[in-house]
Amino acid sequence: MERYSEILEKNRREIVLLRGSGCRWRRCRFCDYHLDASANENENIQLNKEVLSRVTGRFHKLEVINSGSFPELPNQTMQDIEDICIKKGITELHFECHYHFRDAVAPLRARMDKKGICVKIKSGIETFDDLFRESYLGKGIGNASPKALAEYFDEVCLLFGLPGQTEKSMERDIEIGLSYFERVCVNIMQKNSAAILPDPDVIQIFLEKIYPRYVKNERVDILLENTDFGVGGEKKEEKNLCQTNLF
Ligand code: SF4
Repeated sequence: MERYSEILEKNRREIVLLRGSGCRWRRCRFCDYHLDASANENENIQLNKEVLSRVTGRFHKLEVINSGSFPELPNQTMQDIEDICIKKGITELHFECHYHFRDAVAPLRARMDKKGICVKIKSGIETFDDLFRESYLGKGIGNASPKALAEYFDEVCLLFGLPGQTEKSMERDIEIGLSYFERVCVNIMQKNSAAILPDPDVIQIFLEKIYPRYVKNERVDILLENTDFGVGGEKKEEKNLCQTNLF
């Protein structure tokens, strides 16, 4: 699996897909990403060291994802991330975090701030329609308001292409995201081994009506395929070949 890439459009940064103990929530009905996990901490640490050794610091920004939340990474890997940031002059560091780990965010910000590294936390909120999110997607966020979520998180992921979504609902989600958060990352639902299926009609509405409105917005990443950031797909043989096709 490819675990290193560079995002060359919109907020240029390096990105690494690391491996941890796995998502502890695992109940989102649309997700099977949590399968990228191992209970063998030493193997995770070694794998992550190899991936981190590819970081160059070229953009002074690094995004770390791990098919879960940053507290699910080994402590040693967190130290290795900190070390590589210092060594390569990285001053902005992005992580993912589920709402359940929100209390781990402030200590991480404080820890990295002491080293001159600004932490940005992205959380998969999927939609600001609480009822849809909790009763259908099983996300585990409850009815936390956008304002409450923004106390912890800087960026949000939204999930589109689901049965029941409309042009209006998708636009509303993006606009709320842009009002409360620095950046919005739109993921288009793809068929995987989880229960929820993508709705082709909703995806078509997104492509025709929503995509053209936001494709040039510097604060909106749009992943039509979940490997568009260049990680998570088939491994490329040559370094830096997997430049992203980020819209
Ligand atoms: S979407 Fe995130 S929180 Fe939900 S099961 Fe998948 S990895 Fe876990």
